[in-house]
Amino acid sequence: MDDDDHIHNDTPAICRATRADGEPCTVRALADGYCFAHSQTTASKRHTARATGGRNKGASQRVQRHMPHELRPVLTLLLTALTETHEGTLPTQQATALAALASAISRLYGTVEIEARITAIEREIATNGDAS
Ligand SMILES: [Zn+2]
Repeated sequence: MDDDDHIHNDTPAICRATRADGEPCTVRALADGYCFAHSQTTASKRHTARATGGRNKGASQRVQRHMPHELRPVLTLLLTALTETHEGTLPTQQATALAALASAISRLYGTVEIEARITAIEREIATNGDAS
């Protein structure tokens, strides 16, 4: 009786669901005992999030505006992979490989952008340098 009470009152802080890979879900649970990915109450919200490629459409669109055009599909892919990793439907090895490649692409674009800015500044100086 006492033990029964204890079990019922001890709301699990961790999701009760089993992931697609058979491992127990380790994500913090919501009020219904399941995490964002497994909760039935957030199922429709989750569908919307996946459809827009992210949980915050506004933030996602802001990011996309400042992103080189050719990288936009990559961002969508990464956000989808994030959801799939959370749900356990994307193999960890694949997720790790995606993260490493995304990181390499990000570093490369960062370098190229800085070089382009420096070139622009140098050109500016060469053109207007003797203005004063
Ligand atoms: Zn879960």
